[in-house]
Amino acid sequence: MSTYRVIDPATEQGVATVTQLDAEVTDAAIARAHAALPAWRSVAPADRARLLRRFADVVDAHVEELARLEVRGAGHTIGNARWEAGNVRDVLTYYSGAPERLFGRQIPVAGGIDLTFAEPVGVVGVIVPWNFPMPIAGWGFAPALAAGCTVVLKPAELTPLTAIRLGELALEAGIPPEVFRVLPGKGSVVGQRFVANPLVRKIVFTGSTEVGTRVAAQAAEQVKRVTLELGGKSANIVFADADLEQAAATAPYGVFDNAGQDCCARSRILVEASVYDTFLELLEPAVKGVKVTDPGQDDAEMGPLISAGQRTAVRSFVEDAVEPVDVAFRGEAPPGPGFWYPPTVVLPRAATDRVWREEVFGPVVAVMPFRDEAEAVAMANDTEYGLSGSIWTRDVGRALRVARGVESGNLSVNSHSSVRYWTPFGGFKRSGLGRELGPDALASFTEVKNVFIATD
Ligand code: NDP
Repeated sequence: MSTYRVIDPATEQGVATVTQLDAEVTDAAIARAHAALPAWRSVAPADRARLLRRFADVVDAHVEELARLEVRGAGHTIGNARWEAGNVRDVLTYYSGAPERLFGRQIPVAGGIDLTFAEPVGVVGVIVPWNFPMPIAGWGFAPALAAGCTVVLKPAELTPLTAIRLGELALEAGIPPEVFRVLPGKGSVVGQRFVANPLVRKIVFTGSTEVGTRVAAQAAEQVKRVTLELGGKSANIVFADADLEQAAATAPYGVFDNAGQDCCARSRILVEASVYDTFLELLEPAVKGVKVTDPGQDDAEMGPLISAGQRTAVRSFVEDAVEPVDVAFRGEAPPGPGFWYPPTVVLPRAATDRVWREEVFGPVVAVMPFRDEAEAVAMANDTEYGLSGSIWTRDVGRALRVARGVESGNLSVNSHSSVRYWTPFGGFKRSGLGRELGPDALASFTEVKNVFIATD
């Protein structure tokens, strides 16, 4: 087995060394998770609920520790990291209500009784990316455990520390080790075994559209269930009748949160032509005001990128772009070590420009004007993605028309909020498949079984 040195993206100093598991250890853990299924699914609903609540309580008691670990291991701002650890607690608490509510139905039939059961799908493999290591892990394991599935979870190679800690906290809460196991390692090794091993019956994958597409194709060979949360190129549509001050003041936070490494980043701003210049004038001070600093500081609003490789990828859209890119203005970033990149606003020359079409996954936002409502919707939809988006207008009818017109799973009006643990989250088109969170997620961890009992 090899090891991986986790690097603090803000300082480039080593944080910890993690053992990477190999295929053999992964398969053994999957076999144990499979063997544990009968016992876990027959834990009385109230007891499974109690275990999940206990897990939530243990996470709650460690929010600050988990948050500090995420600051060092992933460069998240401390404010965000506290929210993220709290989100794991909240998602566990929310789904702890599920075991006692996994209802079946009784359907009228002749000559007997017809019943449906929500059976656990089996062993679930959760594959987590590096951009939100804690919440994305929780969105997979909490509903899966509640539904009576056992879980193996692979954190991203770059950011394994908080997932490993969550695995320890689960044990402390009394969840058996074979019921929930965190397996650090490479995607090409551990992740691949999740996809290839037939004992894993469902994959929850979050990451790039490219890898997600390959995972889905391989899973199809076994008709293995998949939930996919993939990339995005979401639009922030600003109409002339909007509260422009508010739209401009909040736009940076709709895209630069987590240094833009967010699948929901509103990385295309569409502005009605009549207010385009005014909006840019208002946007400039807002972008320059984003506090980019040591992510451990309480007032930090943006930290570094995750890695040197990610910074190179982001630069390829701006300063190292093949086609020239017009930078309108930028914020600041600290000098010295760390994978820093300043918040950057670019003005594409055409809707075919790479920076307008492809996911940057960094603090770069592109702004273009539109003529009218129809063109705004057409431009917003002119992408292979469909994850989130925002609509700024004071006209309620228009807000609803545009919200219905934009092909996207998560939209907000006069706000940039995307994620609440009790509402569904997921993408249209190549942004994904299935929904996480909210009441709908449980269905993707269960199979409906129909049983007819003859009474005549
Ligand atoms: P990946 O899609 O490569 O990684 C996501 C997860 O999948 C990681 O845990 C990774 O493991 C794992 N993985 C990689 N290859 C395989 C495989 N063959 N089988 C099973 N699992 C696998 O994303 P990257 O981290 O490389 O990021 C690349 C780009 O993807 C980003 O720049 C961004 O554009 C996009 N992205 C989008 C995310 C989103 O939330 N929509 C999240 C992350 C990235 P490991 O990291 O250990 O190799």
